[in-house]
Amino acid sequence: MSDRKFQRTLITSALPYANGEIHLGHLAGAYLPADIYARYLRLRGREVLYICGSDEYGVPITLTAEKLGISPKELVDRNHASIKDSFARFGMSFDNFSQTSRDIHTETSQAFFKDLFDQGVFVQKTTDQFYSPSQQRFLADRYIEGTCPKCHKEGARGDQCEACGSSLDPTELLEPRNVQDNSPLELRQTTHWFLPLGDFQDRLVAMMDAHPEWKDNVLQYCRGWFQDGLSDRAVTRDLNWGVPVPLPDHEGKVFYVWFEAPIGYISSTREWAAAQTGPDSDPEAWRQWWQDPGTKLVHFIGKDNVFFHAVMFPAMLMAHSEDYVLPDNVPANEFLNLEGQKLSTSRGFAVWLPEFLDQFEPDPLRYTLARNAPETRDMNFTWEGFQARNNNELGNNFGNFINRVFTFIHKYFEGVVPQWSPEVMTDLDKQALADVEADLAAWAGHMERFEVKAALESCFHAGQVGNRYFDEAAPFKTRKTDMDRCGHSLVVSIQIIAKLVVMLSPVVPFAMEKVWDWLGMQTDLWHGGWDEGIDRIPAGRTLGKPEILFPRLDDEIIQPQIERLNKLLEE
Ligand SMILES: [Zn+2]
Repeated sequence: MSDRKFQRTLITSALPYANGEIHLGHLAGAYLPADIYARYLRLRGREVLYICGSDEYGVPITLTAEKLGISPKELVDRNHASIKDSFARFGMSFDNFSQTSRDIHTETSQAFFKDLFDQGVFVQKTTDQFYSPSQQRFLADRYIEGTCPKCHKEGARGDQCEACGSSLDPTELLEPRNVQDNSPLELRQTTHWFLPLGDFQDRLVAMMDAHPEWKDNVLQYCRGWFQDGLSDRAVTRDLNWGVPVPLPDHEGKVFYVWFEAPIGYISSTREWAAAQTGPDSDPEAWRQWWQDPGTKLVHFIGKDNVFFHAVMFPAMLMAHSEDYVLPDNVPANEFLNLEGQKLSTSRGFAVWLPEFLDQFEPDPLRYTLARNAPETRDMNFTWEGFQARNNNELGNNFGNFINRVFTFIHKYFEGVVPQWSPEVMTDLDKQALADVEADLAAWAGHMERFEVKAALESCFHAGQVGNRYFDEAAPFKTRKTDMDRCGHSLVVSIQIIAKLVVMLSPVVPFAMEKVWDWLGMQTDLWHGGWDEGIDRIPAGRTLGKPEILFPRLDDEIIQPQIERLNKLLEE
């Protein structure tokens, strides 16, 4: 298809911040769409590597750790383990899931910085910043409050006064205070290294112009920034929890998280390469994924991370003295709302993944989020919608059809795929197969373009074709009059099922791995299962016994979830 110039695809999902659990909003944006794409490519037998890890530095982590009375490292190790576990239960198929607090990331990001530093890429600037004598640290804008210089109301934040709406620089505030302990602040001079993004603007514009296929939201953001002109961005901070700046006389200075976190993709790839065993393993294999032009690099993110993935990180890659591949696409998703409201982690108005998975299977959630994927606008998750997607679509459209066909073959054909010959195919048979093949082709086209929602539309239609065919061909009638015709209808049905499995597997992998098994397939679904899935299931093959794939979700289990959220809204 469109990708033939690439030999391999490197997929990344935005590194989750290790300051808490994963919720549904995270999944819908940067994770599930990437996992679906990675599984799609594996299904097609393409060479793919899917990389992620947790993002573990920065001020919010240190504050949470202080509150809990543990070290930041203890906190991030604990959260990393929990995030990794719930991702695995949800079916995220990362090839490697690392941590930015590991040595390999320190080495990788310091070496990256040194390369740019030695070439003289960075500029040094001295600025005035607020310092908290009580906490002995410089404060980020959001931890500074004071009296607004314009309207003289108290409680203006470092970046904006909510009372009069003025946007502010923290140094303008009167009587600036530390939000956390209300203590006074001092302005102190501090010196930092900056990446002059303006130097890269022409090349970044050229990169964007070469990709008219990027999503509109990404192109619009980028055009806006380019129009305003890119300014210098600090790459260092005054903090003690971060990757130390590897220069003499830089005590107490670490990398800005948005400088080092994207390098985490490279560190995680290096960690993956180093962990490979076997005759072909090579710790330097990461270079092929990052430096060989045959690699297609795709960053899946939420819309709030576009700047760092479409501007800042590409500029860093351009600046490096070795040749790095640049992103071929940056599919950014919009946000997910919950029951029509914005998610709020501070109010607990969210659905947390570990809790969800203690009660529900991952497949129906994956399906619901993919059907509602916030690809071009914010989307909404409701519990009733989740219940309806499970019962009406997964259950009735897909599960029942698959179950009916397998059960029928077991009941009347001893579980063996019946004999058939192409000469006696009816128009109804041919039409059903042709319709599903058209759906399959449309599905694959959408998957190539990250259009998961549209891909699922094609897949859903194929399920409807299957159901309608089964009703019209009516093997339950012909078995009494014409066993040969009955057998043909089941052969057609089982071919439709194999194609449905192909289309559904990236979205509901747990259930489809089972059906793949029942079909007696020879190839691993995730190593080029596509070829066998679209081929004909041979007559005479014994099929596995079916079980219910998508059990119904009743009101008794859904209602308490709705009530929990309603209570939070009333508070
Ligand atoms: Zn004001």
